[in-house]
Amino acid sequence: MTTSHLDADVAVIGFGKGGKTLAANLGREGRRVVMIEQSAQMYGGTCINVGCVPTKALLQQAHERPGGEFTVAGERWFGHAMGAVHTLTGALRAKNFAMLDTLDAVTVVTGRAHFTGLHTLEVEAGADRLTVNAATIILNTGARPVVPPELAGSANVLTNASLLQADALPCRLAIVGGGYLGLEFASIFARLGSQVTVLDRAETFAARLDRDVALSVREVLTAQGVTVVSGARVGGVADGPDGASTIRYSVKGEARALVADRILAATGRRANTDGLALDAAGVDTYARGNVTVNAHLQTSQPHIYAVGDVNGGPQFTYISLDDARIVADHLGGAANPRTLENRGLYPTTVFLTPPLAQVGITEEEARGRGLDVVIASKAVAEMAAMPRARIVGVPEGMMKFVIDARTDQVLGACLFSVDSTEVINLLTLAMRHGVTASELQQGIYTHPSATEGLNEVLGARRG
Ligand SMILES: Cc1cc2nc3c(=O)[nH]c(=O)nc-3n(C[C@H](O)[C@H](O)[C@H](O)COP(=O)(O)OP(=O)(O)OC[C@H]3O[C@@H](n4cnc5c(N)ncnc54)[C@H](O)[C@@H]3O)c2cc1C
Repeated sequence: MTTSHLDADVAVIGFGKGGKTLAANLGREGRRVVMIEQSAQMYGGTCINVGCVPTKALLQQAHERPGGEFTVAGERWFGHAMGAVHTLTGALRAKNFAMLDTLDAVTVVTGRAHFTGLHTLEVEAGADRLTVNAATIILNTGARPVVPPELAGSANVLTNASLLQADALPCRLAIVGGGYLGLEFASIFARLGSQVTVLDRAETFAARLDRDVALSVREVLTAQGVTVVSGARVGGVADGPDGASTIRYSVKGEARALVADRILAATGRRANTDGLALDAAGVDTYARGNVTVNAHLQTSQPHIYAVGDVNGGPQFTYISLDDARIVADHLGGAANPRTLENRGLYPTTVFLTPPLAQVGITEEEARGRGLDVVIASKAVAEMAAMPRARIVGVPEGMMKFVIDARTDQVLGACLFSVDSTEVINLLTLAMRHGVTASELQQGIYTHPSATEGLNEVLGARRG
C-alpha cells in the first residue's frame, strides 16, 4: 500500500457534466484542480457511459433495424447495434478524459473519495491511499438506480447500466416502473424486437401529462408493441429452471404473473452520498440522501458545493451543466450571479418515437390554478402543413399549447411529434423572452420542418 498527498485549490468528486465543466474551466483559469472519479469506465459520467448517449444511440440503431418482431436476425442486429453504441461511448469517454488530462493545472485521480475533515478527502484506489486537501470542494457524485426489495434475488434483474451491457436481446423484457426512463427503454426495446411489458405502480398512466396527450402516448406505445399495466403492485420474482423469471404482481387485488427473460428495474434513482462520509465535513442531506443546497448551490458548508443529480434537482445533464454555471458565477464573484431562483423555464424530452417534449405548464395545471386559458392542439396526422412527419415516416402524435387568454403568452407546450426535441428549445427561448402565441403562429419557418407546425397548430385555438 502506498499513501500520498495532494494540495489543490479545488477538488471535484465525480466526473459528471457539472463537475467536469467546472474542473476544465477552473483549470484553464490556472487554479490547481483535482478531479476524482471512482471508475475508469465512468470518465464523462452517467450521461456518456450509461445514460443519455447510449440510450439515444441505441434508439437510433433501433430505427435503422429492419423487420418487426423477435427473430434470429433481430438478435444478430442487436449485437451489431450494441457494438456501435459501445464504440461511440468508448470514444466519448476517452475524449472526456483527455479534455481534463491535457490541462496542466488539472490532475485526474481514479479512486473513490470520502471526507475525513472539512477540507480533506481520502481517495481509495485498490490498496493505495491518496489524501487531498482543497480550499473548495465540489460534489458531483450523481445518482444510481434503486432496485426495490421485491426484485432482489433474481439473476435476471437489470439496471439501465447492466441492460446497456447486455450481449443478447431479451425476447421478453419486463420493465418495472412506468416513469420516463421506463417508457424510453420500453419504446427502444420494442423497436429492437423484444416483447415489452411495463408494470407501472401508478393507477394513472403518465399522470403528469394532460389526459389527451397521455392517451396519444399510450396509443403510440401500444401500436409499437408495448403493453402497459397500470396499478401493478409487484410482490416478488422467482427464477425458473429454464432461466426465465416469473414476476408476481397484483392489480386492484387480483393476483397475476408475468414471465420474462430480463427485468429492468426503472423504479427511481437515489443520490450517491452514502459512501462520502459527509458527517466528517458537516454536510447536511435530506432524508433521501440528496445534499441540501442554497440558491448558489453551496451545501451547509460554504466552501463545499453540490452540482447535478446529487443535489436533488431535476435529473438532466443540461441541469447539471446549468448548476456548473451557477457555481462558476459564485466562485468568480459575478456581479449578477445566476442562481437556482432565476433559472426559469427549462424544457424536457422523453425520447420516444416520436419524442415527447414539454415546457411550462399543462392545461390541467393551468385550469387548476384558475387561469383563463385558450388551448391550441392538433393531431400530427391531421396537420396538412407539416409534411416533415410523413417524409420521415413518423406521422403519429400531437402538438398542444396552453395560452393565456388575456396576454396571449404561451404558458406551456407539449409536443409529441417528430423533431420536437429541437422545436421545444426554440419555444422555450420564445417563452422566456415573452414572444406571444400570435407572433409564433405568424413566424416564417423553413419548409419542410417540424417548426412550421406552429403556423398551423397555433391557428387552431379554442377557448
Ligand atoms: C438511462 C438514462 C437515460 C438518461 N437520458 C437522459 C437524456 O436523454 N437527457 C438528459 O438530459 N438526461 C438524461 N439522463 C439523466 C442524466 O444522465 C443525469 O441527470 C446526468 O448524467 C447527471 O450527471 P451528474 O452531473 O449529476 O453526475 P454523473 O454523470 O452521474 O456523474 C457522477 C460521477 O460520480 C462518480 N462517483 C460517485 N461517487 C463517487 C465517489 N465517492 N468518489 C469518486 N467518484 C464518485 C460516479 O462514478 C460518476 O461517474 C438519463 C439518465 C439515465 C440513467
